[in-house]
Amino acid sequence: MQEHIVIIGNGISGITCARHIRKNSDKKITVISGETEFFFSRTALMYVYMGHQKFEHTQPYENWFWKKNRINLLKKYVSEIKTDENALVFQDGNTLQYDKLIIAVGSKPNKFGWTGQDLDGVMGMYHKQDLEKIEEYSQNCKRAVIVGGGLIGIEMAEMLRSRNIPVTFLVRENSFWNGVLPKEESEMINRHILEHHIDLRLGMNLKEILADENGKARAVIIPETGEEIPCDLVGLTVGVSPNIDFIKSSNIEVNRGVLVDRCLQTNIKNVYAIGDCAEQHQAIGSRRNIEAVWYTGRMMGETLAQTICDNPKEYKPGNWFNSAKFLDIEYQTYGWVWAKPKPEETHFYWEHKSGKKSIRLVYNTQTNVFLGMNVFGIRVRHEVVDRWLTEQQHVYNVLSQLKDANFDPEFYEQYEFEILAKFNHDNNTNIKVQKTNWKRILNLIK
Ligand SMILES: Cc1cc2nc3c(=O)[nH]c(=O)nc-3n(C[C@H](O)[C@H](O)[C@H](O)COP(=O)(O)OP(=O)(O)OC[C@H]3O[C@@H](n4cnc5c(N)ncnc54)[C@H](O)[C@@H]3O)c2cc1C
Repeated sequence: MQEHIVIIGNGISGITCARHIRKNSDKKITVISGETEFFFSRTALMYVYMGHQKFEHTQPYENWFWKKNRINLLKKYVSEIKTDENALVFQDGNTLQYDKLIIAVGSKPNKFGWTGQDLDGVMGMYHKQDLEKIEEYSQNCKRAVIVGGGLIGIEMAEMLRSRNIPVTFLVRENSFWNGVLPKEESEMINRHILEHHIDLRLGMNLKEILADENGKARAVIIPETGEEIPCDLVGLTVGVSPNIDFIKSSNIEVNRGVLVDRCLQTNIKNVYAIGDCAEQHQAIGSRRNIEAVWYTGRMMGETLAQTICDNPKEYKPGNWFNSAKFLDIEYQTYGWVWAKPKPEETHFYWEHKSGKKSIRLVYNTQTNVFLGMNVFGIRVRHEVVDRWLTEQQHVYNVLSQLKDANFDPEFYEQYEFEILAKFNHDNNTNIKVQKTNWKRILNLIK
């Protein structure tokens, strides 16, 4: 009998795992999701709302792909896991047996018990169903209030502004995302948000959401000022947490997420967890125990597929990397760039006069070893920067090779000379731009 691998969750982690198990084995695979029948790119939901693409375009695989590759898809909601019986119980009462179970159930938007948080017109932005909700709530919307200054909050603000809906953006911190971004980058984004005619309210919280006579959101109250802001839509974007409520009644050990070891196995031998919902017992290096980002979900899926196919492998994510977009400013971060420099670090910061592009290089003050980099408004090649980190390059080498990393399209202005001139001026050095080594770059990206 073929071993039956059941995966709950058809997001990037679950689907990557399923595809790689199929590449390496003939096992029976079932992928379950209560959200959609087919895998789609969650990060592209905003572009559907903004009219840049249709929902079908967010599905990287044709609908026939799954049958052809013998990956069974089930659109059902799992309400219970019975590990003693190797069985899942669905909301409709039916059950399904598994030999190995992979939990890849992602996140859910946080709610902190505010009065009015479940009213009509109040929403998070995570699931496909939220896209339908935001469409509905956008009709005749005179003002939206977004609560929570993170990556999803700013995306939601951009979405609503694309339809000329006035947006008030309540951010608890006194500068946007300043727990993650250093002061200069955070201030750059504050300015950018205001330039996009978003009513940014720094240092402001939500007290409660008021309802109209039909039970629909009509206003929010800010505790700091007591102000009542009339609105028809409230976006709650105060972070996400693992979507694991239905697992809490099982024997599977959970904390904030499903607890896993380095091989992504839970306390139950044939049960694993990957993606946003997995929590490492021990954080890997300086990483968080829970990593709710796209590319780590994909890496966990690939890694676990090896273990499932009898080639046990530890999850080793390598250098930290993330990318996002703040309205039309692209952002990439590599290695560790903390909001406040650590005692052993030096930060070099360059910002273009437009105030829309910047680079920050972090290096060890004693050894000059390159530790990390923030880039705003300039695209750099992942492979090149990742190699600098892995090879623990001297920051002078990084600076002289900055051109190698530039990935902006042809004819874009280049800034390496200006960046280097500032570094040389600030540090009294004489580093020169090296000629681009195309052979090395092509080898890296091959
Ligand atoms: C608007 C938005 C923008 C984002 N932008 C970025 C970005 O720019 N960069 C980045 O790195 N990350 C981004 N993220 C985060 C990224 O999308 C997630 O880290 C990633 O999608 C998580 O993948 P996953 O496979 O762990 O889970 P998910 O994609 O959440 O998939 C889990 C699936 O399991 C289903 N499920 C859950 N419970 C059950 C159950 N009991 N029964 C059946 N099905 C169930 C869910 O409905 C869902 O379909 C963004 C997220 C959002 C919402």
